Amino acid sequence: MTDTAFARAVLRWFDRHGRKHLPWQQNINAYRVWLSEIMLQQTQVTTVIPYFERFMERFPSVEDLARAPVDEVLHLWTGLGYYARARNLHRCAREVVECHGGAFPREVEALSALPGIGRSTAGAIASIAYGEHAAILDGNVKRVLARHYAVDGWPGKTSVQKELWEYAEHHTPKRRVADYTQAMMDLGATLCTRSRPACEQCPVNKSCVARAQGNIQDYPGKKPKKDKPVKAVQFLMLRNPAGDILLQQRPAQGIWGGLWGFPELQPERTPETYIEDHYGVRVVGQEQWDSYRHTFSHYHLDITPVLLQLEREPAQVAEAGSLWYRLDHPSEVGLAAPVKKLLRQLAHLDPRQLSLVG
Ligand code: SF4
Repeated sequence: MTDTAFARAVLRWFDRHGRKHLPWQQNINAYRVWLSEIMLQQTQVTTVIPYFERFMERFPSVEDLARAPVDEVLHLWTGLGYYARARNLHRCAREVVECHGGAFPREVEALSALPGIGRSTAGAIASIAYGEHAAILDGNVKRVLARHYAVDGWPGKTSVQKELWEYAEHHTPKRRVADYTQAMMDLGATLCTRSRPACEQCPVNKSCVARAQGNIQDYPGKKPKKDKPVKAVQFLMLRNPAGDILLQQRPAQGIWGGLWGFPELQPERTPETYIEDHYGVRVVGQEQWDSYRHTFSHYHLDITPVLLQLEREPAQVAEAGSLWYRLDHPSEVGLAAPVKKLLRQLAHLDPRQLSLVG
């Protein structure tokens, strides 16, 4: 099969079976394409749809998004994970407004210079929104090409990635580039899926090398395994006499950057002594909850939540970067998923429960 035949087959399939009714496929413009592409990184279409709609309702244009406080953006993003994406999203909107007069650039190079936009996302925006001749290589396309050409090795490796980009560029057609981009993403998402691909329905199955070899599951190659380190932390859930919980904003850099969370303490330290030394108030009740593991891409974090009932509200907590979170009337701030879950559990506790413990 020649290269143009590959693209033609993919486009023919798209005309009959491709997805054409997703919210970001309507009223197409660079802002909508960009937002959907950022949300779709590492997240399923069905999860993204309500988030995309909420964002569009609240921020109909890139100017609206750029003007919004970052906290509001993080709040709307809560639950989508990978919060660096949300912070970059906001930075990118500001840069588009300040440096490009509110219009996303057309060229892949200029797009890739914006925060949070890699080469593949830049290709998607350029091709879908502007019809530019630009290739993409997101996770779905990598899988299709790695299998179709039986490309050995983990796609995170530079040499493997280079080979896949060559195939991607080679096949990107001059005409109908927007449809082709969408078609390749759909093919990976709906037919050439991670497990049990539907090869009988695939438009390029006759030329697929992995299929002919009978070893589809070997592609794309797996990431070489490394044991993740384990870290541990205590989450201190400080409750004032009114039943509100102390939250602090995390530094912009690092995990859950810019989101709000509980004060933390190393596992070997005693919360009660720490609170009394650090905040100058007595703890009148405490309860250690079961530890659980939260896994990040680079390490595991074993979290032990500890609920501490304070005798009174400490004075220094009025400082910026801290707030008393009302469980009956939650503040609109960005919360990391584990913090959100714990707050929900706290809201269901009997507020008098701990005051009884000495
Ligand atoms: S034939 Fe199967 S493995 Fe090959 S590209 Fe199509 S769906 Fe993927």
